[in-house]
Amino acid sequence: MGLLDWRDRRHFDQSQDGARPCMQCQVTTPMRSHSGEPVHKVCAEDWNDSHPDAPRYEHDGRDLGTTRYHSDPPIKHRKGSA
Ligand SMILES: [Zn+2]
Repeated sequence: MGLLDWRDRRHFDQSQDGARPCMQCQVTTPMRSHSGEPVHKVCAEDWNDSHPDAPRYEHDGRDLGTTRYHSDPPIKHRKGSA
């Protein structure tokens, strides 16, 4: 199972009370899953590793992880002449 790609800003709650207990390890974190769950990225990756039977999340036919914790869809690059 690969690492999650959470480059999108929405995975980081910068509000003043943004630090919440992680759903997995209970240590506070400003990180958020796609569904808004407070969770460290590494904890989400661990959860994916320990739940191989969890429903998969697919985007354009690519497996991005589980429906609970999955990567941001890859940024689409323009198809140029290069
Ligand atoms: Zn955690």
